[in-house]
Amino acid sequence: MAYRVVDLLMSVRSKLRAKALIRANHQCEWPGCHETRWLEMSHIIPLGSGGKDELSNVWMLDKPHHDLYDGRAPFKRRELRVLVVELMRWRRGE
Ligand SMILES: [Zn+2]
Repeated sequence: MAYRVVDLLMSVRSKLRAKALIRANHQCEWPGCHETRWLEMSHIIPLGSGGKDELSNVWMLDKPHHDLYDGRAPFKRRELRVLVVELMRWRRGE
């Protein structure tokens, strides 16, 4: 039973990733970046901060930009997130 729950979660996540990848045109969505390799799904608002596991809260980033966005590379993470969320809204025409 436990395996089935895990499988279900994995398949939901991989479907979400597939949708995000198509929406991103198989490119990194970092402004100005068009990398097509090492793409990972990133949560705009982290799950731990109340972000949802859904298409409106994810974007595709290559590994270096994912690391940068998640603060694994030196950067002022909070300021960067505010900027990126604004950019995403602007891009969606909100
Ligand atoms: Zn990139």
